[in-house]
Amino acid sequence: MNCPICKKPAAPKYRPFCSRRCADVDLGRWLNGSYAIPADDPEGLDEALEKARTTLEDEPPQKSRQQD
Ligand SMILES: [Zn+2]
Repeated sequence: MNCPICKKPAAPKYRPFCSRRCADVDLGRWLNGSYAIPADDPEGLDEALEKARTTLEDEPPQKSRQQD
């Protein structure tokens, strides 16, 4: 699997990204609305934003939940 940001091989710790930096780039895109947010699921949005904040605070990756 390659990093979707820069196409380098992904690092297990940051997958699917190669680095924390690329994960942050992706998060920035997400927060800027490049990703579709389900408009009929405001709780899901809250959860996503909270997860995003947690990521920004440099929490360990294993603390974030897998999105279904
Ligand atoms: Zn990358």
